[in-house]
Amino acid sequence: MNLKDYVTIVQDYPKEGIRFKDISTIMDNGQAYKFATDEIVKFAKEVGTDIIVGPEARGFIIGCPVAYALEVGFAPVRKPGKLPREIISVEYDLEYGKDTLTIHKDAIKPGQRVLIVDDLLATGGTVGATIELVEKLGGIVAGCAFIIELSYLNGHEKLQGYNKRALITY
Ligand code: 5GP
Repeated sequence: MNLKDYVTIVQDYPKEGIRFKDISTIMDNGQAYKFATDEIVKFAKEVGTDIIVGPEARGFIIGCPVAYALEVGFAPVRKPGKLPREIISVEYDLEYGKDTLTIHKDAIKPGQRVLIVDDLLATGGTVGATIELVEKLGGIVAGCAFIIELSYLNGHEKLQGYNKRALITY
């Protein structure tokens, strides 16, 4: 299956000049969604995975079916104010300004092998902050998996020394 055929490019979203890669047309097709999930499951098995971590919100859509297939847990990474119990947080740079991501303090046990999953790797800010959260909790980042990588935004530079898999590259 050529997964790229199921991505919809949306011109000028969310801002003029941006060509947004919409993965909802992968998810609303049962076969494409299963194919994408199965490919990430294969990678997860290659690198060895005890738990999946995914940043909100599209990281949940990709990460949860992978966790289900592997019969491992899923830990959400969220924006501030969304997780109800004790958290740790990491601040990271955006194009303009800063943002913060959080995770429950007990979500990862020290030594657990963690697969980080998100829909898309752009500048790598999101995955970089997620790696920091996992490592602060003593987790080992076994790998990072994405449906799409925008290679021209150089997110891979933040992933040097980590296992990475992207199913589609632009
Ligand atoms: P980064 O932090 O690597 O710059 O951006 C990646 C994050 O932004 C991901 O969590 C992803 O959901 C979101 N994102 C940025 N651009 C796109 C896009 O074109 N399509 C989709 N689906 N998500 C995007």
